[in-house]
Formats: sequence, structure tokens, C-alpha cells
Amino acid sequence: MWGVRLDLRELIATPGGKESFAFTLDPTDLDFDGVLKYLTPITVTGLVENHAGLLELRAGIRADMLCQCARCLKEFQKPLELDVKVYLAQELEDQDSVDFYLIEDGSVDLEEIMRDALIFNFEPRLLCREDCKGLCPKCGKDLNEGPCGCAEDPDPRWLALGQLLEKD
Ligand SMILES: [Zn+2]
Ligand SMILES: [Zn+2]
Repeated sequence: MWGVRLDLRELIATPGGKESFAFTLDPTDLDFDGVLKYLTPITVTGLVENHAGLLELRAGIRADMLCQCARCLKEFQKPLELDVKVYLAQELEDQDSVDFYLIEDGSVDLEEIMRDALIFNFEPRLLCREDCKGLCPKCGKDLNEGPCGCAEDPDPRWLALGQLLEKD
């Protein structure tokens, strides 16, 4: 089990109050598709504010990643930049809401909140650039480097396979 718990007992009793936090996230189990490795520690910095009894948590998750393009398979570096905003409540009316977390024994598990945010929001397909042309499904040439010559009359079976892979 992980766990970076933030004690909120004082903040709950202080309308208008703030409590900041900072920690690094263990990359274990944060192995998303296309992420080869994290080049820096995954840092989390944030703040919980008591707005008239409603606790709002905002945080930024940052790291540098080494990724592999889903289309051309090239390796590239990309920053991980995710901003998180959730609410903390002592009672949950809607148990399924991902934006609300239950305060238990006066505290919340920050690590759980950050892991959930990453899992819900992580880009499903990392590309080296928005318009990456990918590899020719026929000859395997990197089409970012220029046309390969076999693109003019694509075999319909390869085309169907290409579309299938795109949808993944
Ligand atoms: Zn690419
Ligand atoms: Zn080709």
C-alpha cells in the first residue's frame, strides 16, 4: 500500500484556511502505454483550501517522460503536466463521483487522489507530434521522412489493419 496522508483536522475547523503540500509520487504501477520511463521524479505540489466548509484540493503533477510514439515508434521526451482539482468531503452523497473524496479520520490519501487523476486523464495514445505520419504499413518506412512509393495503391487489407491499429 502507498499512502501520503494529509491531516485536515485543523483546516476543517478554519474557514478560509489553506494547507499546502508537496511530495514525489512512486512511479511503481504508473506504467502507461507509450511511457518507457520517467526521467525525473514525479513531483506533486498543491493546496487544499477551505471555502466556507467546502474543501477544494488543487494540485499539479509534473515529470519528464521518455515515450515511444504510438504511430512511428520513435522515442521522444515529453513533459507530464497534469492539473488536478477535486473536492474533499466528510460525507459522500454520490459515492461514484470521481471529483469527491472522503475524508477519513480527519485526513485524505493524497497519493490515491493523484494516482486516480493520472489513470483517468492520461493520454491514451502518445504521439511524437500531433501530425505524426507513422510507418508505412506495407514497407515499414517512417513516412515522416518522406513518402515510400508504395502508398499510392495501398492493399485494402493493410488499410483495414491500419485503421484497426489507429482505433486502439
Ligand atoms: Zn511519431
Ligand atoms: Zn511503403
